[in-house]
Amino acid sequence: MSMRLPKTVMAVLLLMAATAQAGQTIVRVYVDNYPELARCIQFKGTSINIAGKVEGEAYDLILDRQDLPLVLGSGLRTKVIVDDLETHRVEAGSFGFYCSYDSMVSTLRRLAVGFPAICRLDSFGPTHEGRYVIGLKISDNPGVDEDEPEVMFFGQVHAREWAAGQVCRHICDTLLNNYATDIGFRGLIDSREIWVFPIVNADGFAYDYPSQRSWRKNRQPFGSATGCDDNRDFNGVCSGNRMADWGSLVPGSRTSHLPSDETFFGAKGAWGKEIGALCDFFKQRTIVACLDFHSYSELVLWPYGHGENTPDNTYYSSLGQQIASRINRLSGGTYTPQRSDQLYPTNGGSDDWFYGWARQIGGFPCMSFCVELGTAFYQNTTQLDAIESQAFKGAYYLAQQASDIIATLEGTVPRPILAVMDSSASGSFTVNWTQIRPD
Ligand SMILES: [Zn+2]
Repeated sequence: MSMRLPKTVMAVLLLMAATAQAGQTIVRVYVDNYPELARCIQFKGTSINIAGKVEGEAYDLILDRQDLPLVLGSGLRTKVIVDDLETHRVEAGSFGFYCSYDSMVSTLRRLAVGFPAICRLDSFGPTHEGRYVIGLKISDNPGVDEDEPEVMFFGQVHAREWAAGQVCRHICDTLLNNYATDIGFRGLIDSREIWVFPIVNADGFAYDYPSQRSWRKNRQPFGSATGCDDNRDFNGVCSGNRMADWGSLVPGSRTSHLPSDETFFGAKGAWGKEIGALCDFFKQRTIVACLDFHSYSELVLWPYGHGENTPDNTYYSSLGQQIASRINRLSGGTYTPQRSDQLYPTNGGSDDWFYGWARQIGGFPCMSFCVELGTAFYQNTTQLDAIESQAFKGAYYLAQQASDIIATLEGTVPRPILAVMDSSASGSFTVNWTQIRPD
């Protein structure tokens, strides 16, 4: 049986069929600056988020297909670069080279067993689902807390940014395997304490791998929603500037109070269990250089995310340019260095807090960066070797600079105000602690 429908009804039915398709899509929007993008695209109340940037040319937006008309009708030139992420995941080829959370832990354990003189396992956590963020301390005498400049690299604060964890694993691999034969590596490892935590958002990654669900947040429930954006959950810049605190939203901030949004702050600063644990870890150390790996856009970013310069912006800019100049893009040229709000403004990002807490509260300098690796969340594995080896060069340079960072900034950091220690003459006390892994 068939029936004839008026053209207008047909058009409505076709539109419904098109918009009812499940899944997500990535659209390249040809606009080279965030303010113009934010003027033309309706982010609020939609599924539309920024996936990445082609510097000086375009932004890539990730969105549910139902919101496609909002982007295609924005008046900006657009191109659908991934029509259906589900299909794209299959087309991206074998993901055999990407470690799962479990295989990453096994890899780190193997390295710790293989190089006991220059590394040891460490961890913080647990996460909401009870996982631990496992990492390595790489240094001579790794069991001793030596007076050496400390450096930290970490990745996968965002679950679906798989190359970030691989780059951290590659840093461990390369440093440890070349220690015996490379005088430069040996000098670096002997004179630094280097911490590497490849997968910070362990729950999110365990959920995203291997199904490639395009999951960004952690897995901690808030009401009926799941997860906060771990890179919006840090406690601001600690400078007393309210617009730079956790919970503030500067104009255009890609940060949200709505629990279902991809950029949800969390219920409070350091609410995400792994972020709270990472911050506690940092507070117990004196880490003067750190680098948070994300993907994608081939950028080197530094604070502040809300759009003001840090007091050390000249130095930041110089270090950022040096790091970026060492990392080749996949298609030629090198990474682009910029203050992070030039990608888009944010509040609660990691680089803001590490720099700010260290300077304002810890009483030591910490030059913290974020590197956006590669050109896709699930980068084709054929491009992974290039991304890893290039990113290593930037990380190695930053680790080398750790002593210079101290020499350059130490006198400029305000001294912390120490509270007078309280005392109690007598009494009965109970001390509790939680045993951490690995044992
Ligand atoms: Zn990210």
